[in-house]
Amino acid sequence: MFKVNNDYLKLPGSYLFSNIAKKVNAFAEANPDKKIIRLGIGDVTQPLCPAVIKALHSAVDEMGNAETFKGYAPDLGYSFLRDTIVEKVYKALGADIKADEVFISDGAKSDSGNIQEIFSSDAKIAVCDPVYPVYVDTNVMAGRTGTYDPATELWSDVIYMPCTAANGYAPELPTETPDVIYLCFPNNPTGATITKSQLQEWVDYANKVGAVIIYDAAYEAYISEPDVPHSIYECEGARTCAIEIRSFSKNAGFTGTRLGYTVIPKDIKDEEGNTLNALWARRHGTKFNGAPYIIQKAGEAVFSEEGQKETNEQIAYYMKNAKYILEGLKEAGYTVSGGVNAPYIWLKTPDNMTSWEFFDYLLENANVVGTPGSGFGPSGEGHFRLTAFGSYENTVEAIDRIKKL
Ligand SMILES: *Cc1c(COP(=O)(O)O)cnc(C)c1O
Repeated sequence: MFKVNNDYLKLPGSYLFSNIAKKVNAFAEANPDKKIIRLGIGDVTQPLCPAVIKALHSAVDEMGNAETFKGYAPDLGYSFLRDTIVEKVYKALGADIKADEVFISDGAKSDSGNIQEIFSSDAKIAVCDPVYPVYVDTNVMAGRTGTYDPATELWSDVIYMPCTAANGYAPELPTETPDVIYLCFPNNPTGATITKSQLQEWVDYANKVGAVIIYDAAYEAYISEPDVPHSIYECEGARTCAIEIRSFSKNAGFTGTRLGYTVIPKDIKDEEGNTLNALWARRHGTKFNGAPYIIQKAGEAVFSEEGQKETNEQIAYYMKNAKYILEGLKEAGYTVSGGVNAPYIWLKTPDNMTSWEFFDYLLENANVVGTPGSGFGPSGEGHFRLTAFGSYENTVEAIDRIKKL
């Protein structure tokens, strides 16, 4: 008789957002007259912008024409998109990245989940706490995290870097040496950022101890302050220690269309001189048959003048929501952070409520859905995440309801 992969059975509970959906559905069923406003999950609501739609239509037409039809895409991505990314993202920042260091994918969730495959099975990982759950769970699935302690909700072989009010939600360098360090800035869930000099310290540290930083920059487009780095390659020495993961989901609304990319400089080598770039190329070649041509054309259009203008308008729309949430909650006496360089607002639960108690309280009394901070890790306990991805009208209504509680 077959046996399932035992490492999967070690995962505690189900995926955070399935648990939330269950609770919200039960509440909706019991209260069919109540209008529930969802500021929980990190999904966009604005439609794809006109420049992207135009590119999609024209790519669809190409696919219906014998002369321009495309079959399998190159598994590392079309050069038109890889070259555009090098020009418009990295050259624009003064970063030295080549097209063959850019790998196009179907999004940052799969890349950030799959990237652990190219490290040894005993690689020691370090994560922020709270954290985007994908980083830890995929390492659990790979059998790399040791044993789980339900009391502390920590894995024995994972290095946790608490991000709390005390350190401004910025992790401190770990005392135990990791092999792989996951960083995400602007951060999901806290909405926090670090400065360029803080990020430089991480790059220097990784180079010193021989670790690799996996830098998730999914929210780069939301940065509004000048001192916040848009890419880890703005830091000196990042080419020998940093992988950067990016997505078209949050900056251009591709959550349902799927497109992302990962940058792996050829200068990242292990002791024997093996490059992570070659391993990732090998992995893509074996397990991935390329992002669709149509979607890659749509991604290219995001970088056009029109595309940039239109997607910036969408980001401004969400950030107007973020401002309303931030200011409204402050007025209501909440302790809040984030929401300036990120579409996430991180608040302290009032009256020492646990994250889940506050979740129930908000759902029952304001009919507003948010995300319990403890779902992102033990240091998220006592915190709660609201997102700016709703419509402006719903956001205003939700915050006005909370103010009245
Ligand atoms: C949303 C999100 C992603 C996933 O992006 P996709 O490209 O849609 O898969 C990756 N990382 C973080 C931190 C996110 O919040």
